[in-house]
Amino acid sequence: MEKLLISTCLLGVETRYDGGHNLLPKLHLLKERYILISACPEVDGGLPTPRDPAERIGESVLTITNEDVTEQFNLGANIALDLCKKHKIKKALLKKNSPSCGHSQIYDGSFTGNLINRDGVTAELLKANGIKVYNEDEIDKLL
Ligand code: SF4
Repeated sequence: MEKLLISTCLLGVETRYDGGHNLLPKLHLLKERYILISACPEVDGGLPTPRDPAERIGESVLTITNEDVTEQFNLGANIALDLCKKHKIKKALLKKNSPSCGHSQIYDGSFTGNLINRDGVTAELLKANGIKVYNEDEIDKLL
């Protein structure tokens, strides 16, 4: 069976910055088609849960209290890429809008809820390495 990288919070694991999760209603359908390999780049990069919200600003990632967490975000992204290489994963289902996992749209760095057309750190790295990234609104493309 094909392997799929998936954001850990989409499995219902409470890894979100606010201690919550984003359990996918169609998770059972995914499990019928894929072996799911999970990654939470922010936790894998060494950040705690819960944690301050963070957003990409230029090439940095800063928390709402102006702490620079770029290094942790980059480390988590590289761990996710290593997982994809190890398991020969070609597709990833990642949580939308996240500064790590979001693809095509993320928050603009103002912490006001505005979205811009940009990838999160992990989505960007995976795409640059030939991995096709989907978000939860695109799950039907994977089923
Ligand atoms: S970093 Fe990704 S997997 Fe982890 S909580 Fe945020 S969106 Fe979910």
